[in-house]
Amino acid sequence: MSFDDGVQATNCDATKCKYSAVKMGYWQDDFIQYFVTGYERKTPEINRGYYARTKGVAMFMDKFLKKTGSNCQIINLGAGFDTLYWRLKNSGITVNNYIEIDFASVTSKKCFLIKKSKILLQTISQQEDEVKIIGPDLHAPDYHIIGTDLRNLTELDKKLTQSGINFDVPTMFLTECVLVYMEPESSSMLLHWIAKKFNDIFFINYEQVNMNDNFGRIMLDNLRSRGCQLAGVDACLSPQTQMDRFVRVGWDSARSWNMINVYEYLPEEDRYRMERLEMLDELELLQQLLQHYCITIAWKGITMADVDHL
Ligand code: SAM
Repeated sequence: MSFDDGVQATNCDATKCKYSAVKMGYWQDDFIQYFVTGYERKTPEINRGYYARTKGVAMFMDKFLKKTGSNCQIINLGAGFDTLYWRLKNSGITVNNYIEIDFASVTSKKCFLIKKSKILLQTISQQEDEVKIIGPDLHAPDYHIIGTDLRNLTELDKKLTQSGINFDVPTMFLTECVLVYMEPESSSMLLHWIAKKFNDIFFINYEQVNMNDNFGRIMLDNLRSRGCQLAGVDACLSPQTQMDRFVRVGWDSARSWNMINVYEYLPEEDRYRMERLEMLDELELLQQLLQHYCITIAWKGITMADVDHL
């Protein structure tokens, strides 16, 4: 198994975890079922961690969507089998252009699963002939899937252009546990390239943090034992290293919160509902997990200063 195979396998893991939480009622996702085979019930702390991740990302995305209206683009880097495009559309939110990028082997599988599902296809477009799948890529009026390596900026530029990207429209980038798998030079080049190419940008990055303490090292060993190298772990040492990686390469500003802070900030009513779904014996383990993930936001051009404080 090559290093990149191990990284791509992390997508299956993320999808299974999301499906487990959805089946238990943590949040609603009518589409994830089309991207998994079999159901594996995960532990309550994993389900709660995914709840905090999904709701936390949505909270920051909502702030961006409120600011821009739907006159914006979303680019999900290392999207795997993520279903955000369908969830947004299902709730009546359509952005100008929604683009997902992942390795061609991952996007080919995603395209295949989309092709098999009437619901997925029809949510993309009522006219099925508007959804064109060419190799690992999918092109539709407001949705594109691109199969490419994020370390290959020449191809990324070419394929984004083919997907009708507009570098002058406010654009939100999303990465959930992706940059950590890239060598630091490659993720820096990617973030620098984005900051240079686009005028008004907002970035949401969910990933590991505090990876240099004992619990962090155990998490690293666990991932390594599953064939997964975290080449970019140096940016995941602290909230400061998470923010620095953006500002260093031309972004105006960045903020970072560990998931304990994010969790506490989520709407109380929904948290109350969610905390009653399953008994949680290992509260300490949940806290350790939340302490070792964070959401970092960064922006350039548009000001997201009102997001400054949670
Ligand atoms: N973001 C998705 C989610 O939250 O469900 C998937 C997360 S999964 C842990 C990481 C994803 O990043 C995988 O699908 C992997 O293939 C992708 N990825 C990592 N490095 C990449 C690269 N250099 N180019 C393209 N995709 C990459």
